[in-house]
Amino acid sequence: MELIESGQFSVDDFGHAKVFGEYILLLPVPVLIHLQTMLEKELGAKKAGAFLEEIGVYQVRQALERYKKRLGIQKVDKTKIMEFEKKIINIIGFGNVDTKVVFNGSVIDITLNNPTVAIKYAEINGKCRHPVDYYLGGILKGSFSTLTGKDMTVEEIRCAAMGDSVCRFILKPKKKRAKG
Ligand SMILES: [Zn+2]
Repeated sequence: MELIESGQFSVDDFGHAKVFGEYILLLPVPVLIHLQTMLEKELGAKKAGAFLEEIGVYQVRQALERYKKRLGIQKVDKTKIMEFEKKIINIIGFGNVDTKVVFNGSVIDITLNNPTVAIKYAEINGKCRHPVDYYLGGILKGSFSTLTGKDMTVEEIRCAAMGDSVCRFILKPKKKRAKG
């Protein structure tokens, strides 16, 4: 609602919907889950996860670029990125997730309380033996890499699709490869 009121959501003369100045498709969650399940069968969970994570990173980088251009600023301040990230998570259908972010040195610990995809994934595919929120992990990784100015890695260590009560992500700065 807030997006419509602020004009961030618009529809052009051809009926194409736009959010933050880019065309969007509204996909039902099971569609994403179906794609993910097919990729997992074909490539294995790890490789499939890497693709979906990259989609999340790509999405948030593009969105932040547009956001910066729109506001004509070079550097987006940190609180704005946090706000914007919550909006992105909200727009793509995760809803008003209750997010807890803990900064522990260079490690960022994020807990999500209402993870739509994980809950739906378990509903469709049954309880899973691995975490499933690669896409959301990619969004977090993209946001916090921008926020900290460092390349981060992300790992989901608890997932509601596995029967955990929350989804929990650990982000760390990517280790530089040792020389020699
Ligand atoms: Zn999860």
